[in-house]
Amino acid sequence: MQKDGRGVTMTSRCLLCGTAASVVGVFVPDDPAAFGGTSGKSRLIRYGLCAKCSGEDDLQATVEKVILAELKGGIL
Ligand SMILES: [Zn+2]
Repeated sequence: MQKDGRGVTMTSRCLLCGTAASVVGVFVPDDPAAFGGTSGKSRLIRYGLCAKCSGEDDLQATVEKVILAELKGGIL
């Protein structure tokens, strides 16, 4: 597990259900400031997903919601 200083790594567990992740996704917000980053600088958020959740239909929307919620909750 590494933090590179501008990104957050949380890839060992599925972002959505918390079981062991089997794939890793990268979320790049259009508006980094809304995700705790500095406006104008890109912010990468890596996340893990299990095989089941990575096949969800509206995955991108769900992932974005969960990441936002976790940022606001101070988890990330
Ligand atoms: Zn999952």
